[in-house]
Amino acid sequence: MTRKPTYEELEQRILTLENLFSQTGKPFGNRRMVSDLIELSGSLIVVKDRDGRFLLVNRKWEDITGLKRSDILGQTDEDLFDPDTASQFMKNDRQVMESGETIEVEEHLDTPSGTRWFISAKFPLFDEKGRVDGLCAIITEITDRKRMEDALKANEKKYLNLFNNTQIALFKTTLDGKLVEINSRYAEMAGYTSVEACMADFDPGKAWADPGARQQMIAILREKGSVRNYEGRFLRKDGSQGWLLISAGYCPGDGCIEGSAVDISERKLIQQTLERNEAMQRKMVSHIGDVIVIIDVNGINTYKSPNIEKLFGWKPEELIGKNAFETVHPEDRKNALSFFRKLLDKPDTLGTMEFRYKCKDDHYRWIEFTGSNLLHDPDIQGILGNYHDIMERKQVEQTLRESEARFKALHNASFGGIAIHDKGIILDCNQGLAEMSGYSTDELIGMNGLLLIAEESRELVMQSIANGSEKPYEALGLHKNGSKFHIRVEARNVPYKGKIIRTTEFRDLSESKRAEAERKKLEEQLTQAQKMESVGRLAGGVAHDYNNMLSVIIGYTELAMNELTASSPLYGFLREIHKAAARSTKITRQLLAFARKQTIAPKVLDMNEVVESMFKMLRRLIGEDIDIAWLPESRLWPIKIDPSQVEQILANLCINARDAIFGVGKVTIETHKITLDKSYAADHGETFAGDYVLLTVSDDGCGMDKETLSNIFEPFFTTKGVNEGTGLGLATVYGIVKQNNGFINVYSEPGKGTTFRIYLPRHGGDVEKTVPETASPIPVSQGEIILLVEDENSIRIMGQMMLEKLGYEVFSAETPQEAISLASKHRGEIHLLITDVVMPGMNGRDMAEHLKRLYPALKTLFMSGYTANIIAHRGILEEEVHFIQKPFSMIELGQKVRDVLEKAG
Ligand code: ADP
Ligand code: MG
Repeated sequence: MTRKPTYEELEQRILTLENLFSQTGKPFGNRRMVSDLIELSGSLIVVKDRDGRFLLVNRKWEDITGLKRSDILGQTDEDLFDPDTASQFMKNDRQVMESGETIEVEEHLDTPSGTRWFISAKFPLFDEKGRVDGLCAIITEITDRKRMEDALKANEKKYLNLFNNTQIALFKTTLDGKLVEINSRYAEMAGYTSVEACMADFDPGKAWADPGARQQMIAILREKGSVRNYEGRFLRKDGSQGWLLISAGYCPGDGCIEGSAVDISERKLIQQTLERNEAMQRKMVSHIGDVIVIIDVNGINTYKSPNIEKLFGWKPEELIGKNAFETVHPEDRKNALSFFRKLLDKPDTLGTMEFRYKCKDDHYRWIEFTGSNLLHDPDIQGILGNYHDIMERKQVEQTLRESEARFKALHNASFGGIAIHDKGIILDCNQGLAEMSGYSTDELIGMNGLLLIAEESRELVMQSIANGSEKPYEALGLHKNGSKFHIRVEARNVPYKGKIIRTTEFRDLSESKRAEAERKKLEEQLTQAQKMESVGRLAGGVAHDYNNMLSVIIGYTELAMNELTASSPLYGFLREIHKAAARSTKITRQLLAFARKQTIAPKVLDMNEVVESMFKMLRRLIGEDIDIAWLPESRLWPIKIDPSQVEQILANLCINARDAIFGVGKVTIETHKITLDKSYAADHGETFAGDYVLLTVSDDGCGMDKETLSNIFEPFFTTKGVNEGTGLGLATVYGIVKQNNGFINVYSEPGKGTTFRIYLPRHGGDVEKTVPETASPIPVSQGEIILLVEDENSIRIMGQMMLEKLGYEVFSAETPQEAISLASKHRGEIHLLITDVVMPGMNGRDMAEHLKRLYPALKTLFMSGYTANIIAHRGILEEEVHFIQKPFSMIELGQKVRDVLEKAG
């Protein structure tokens, strides 16, 4: 440890220092002034000797180190400071003293108030011999500066961190677009992996997608010095585009642009989508046919979409702020209001109503308003709804209603039944169906339509329904009363209230079936009539010649018999001939009757009387094993008919009845008055409405099957053996009844007997008294003179012989001419002309008239094989015409001649 220098020594040294100062040639004032200067210096000033011992410190040094100068003078750094600090000072000191050069070094010192930093300017001190004798340090505290520098450094570091790690791209470029500085975000945004790569390659001047926008930005920068939030599109390294939001400043100093950029591509995309969506919504709202409206809780319009103008003529602004109900038709307003209130009551409900909306031109249009309560929705705060124009629909509805009404009317007016049904259940029907089925329309609606169909047709109907077939078909309908009737069913599939149902039309076929049956029957009748007609014509033709021949046979047989006594053997032969001829006569008579060629003389008569007069004969005809019941209705209406025809009818029917009964049985004969109305007549073919006398002949015999029944009126139809039946009985009856405008009805079943009903029309006149038949012998002549005209020789001769036999004086002529000349030559009376009707040259009637002029009192008796129109109209003899049917017997002739001669007029 070296000795502490004494003050004097130190003072000496200071002097030396003064010398030092003087050595540098710098002028100093006095020593005092230097010492003050040192003492008051803002820097720390230290002088140390060659050994590092403190020779001098100023007050500043004392302040900073906190050491007292009296304590430290003569001491070294090692004595005063901790080793680290000491070595720091000593090292620098040594460098100065060894090099003899001035240095400036940074030094620090830990003090209780923290580390303090210094800049120490250290220079060597020399002795007189020029050797380094010590050093002087002028120390300036730089702790504050140091701290600032540190802070700055930290800041800088932070900035750099920020600069490189921020999501904001930072850049500095030249005006023409050369990169000066960028951060990593910038490189990343531009599409590079590193700042360096970006710096080397990227040209921001060319990276603008729209160069115009860049120029515009630069113009703004130049003019204003900065741009804020400038948007531009840029191209990345890979050519893709993005959006940047740029804020930048222009530094005229270096001509650079510094700024930041944010990639807003994503936001832009969202924004664009939003904008597009909004535009789309706007367009939708304006293009949609409906008007979108918002009405607030007070009923005030707060929004109307623009197309309200297109629909109703109003501009939205004309309505907004006004009461929404002003434009509702007054008649619909009440309903609209209550609908609106209901909507208000229930949030989030949706409701629909129809009303008339007033257009600007004061017309009303029907609209459908659909509204939903969105009072709680901050964007709506009211009823959001739309007006849907339903004018067209309303018009269609109206037309539909009208057409429905028309349809209903038609539906009910149409013939036949119509039902609208869904799988058989009747939804609606017309009056026609009710009439047809017997049910009321109320009963029918809701009923299963199958109940209107008879059991046997149901399968068919169900099939048609199942197939949805529209093919018409025939079926059996079932009336409420259980009766069945023919129907024609035709169904159609039609849309009805949104689904497909069927309309089915029922047509009652009873009428047409009946008509068809009738037509068939008429056809059969016609064929039958034609057959009868031709058979009749044939029979008539045959009968004519046949009768002439029979007349001859019968006539001569009778004449021959008159010549003989009954005991003569020849008489017996002649009687057999006569019998056979008589039977043949009967056959030809029947044929003629059937052919309606029978000449008749109708009389007005009472059927009961005729039946009664025949009763004995019928009794005989039928035989004893069979009962006859006679049930006449009293006070029968008169009929006009030839009594012999009634006899023929009765005889034929009774004989047939008898033949049908084997053993014991019963035949019943009845008469009735009966009035047939039109409907009965319509139902029974050939009948006509009116009053009839009904003659019924029924038996409890074997009856007939259908086949037999359909043939019985045909001539020569018989089921009987060769000698038993001729098959002419019923043909005769038929002919007679027809001739008298009546008709026949037969009811028969095998084993159940047979009933024949003969209807003969009532006659208006009174009943004529029939002359009771005289069973007297052949009336003979009272001396009268007869002129006989007949072209057929054998008949003329036979006739003459018969008449002469009866006592008459007879002239005969072969032709009318001969007769006329004979008559004109004759002197005296001629009482009776008996003449054939059809003769060559002139007919019997004309001749008779001719002769009447010569003999006004002359009476005429016509004889004919069949009815000729000359004397009869449709077989009915004209009044006062006398007629005898060929062939005739002498008795018949005798009676007829007397009848005519004795009749007055
Ligand atoms: P016929 O009696 O000569 O056979 P009809 O013309 O009188 O000819 O009758 C024709 C047929 O009608 C008869 O053969 C018979 O088969 C049938 N017939 C007529 N009347 C009756 C009856 N009352 N009962 C049963 N069958 C009858
Ligand atoms: Mg018969």
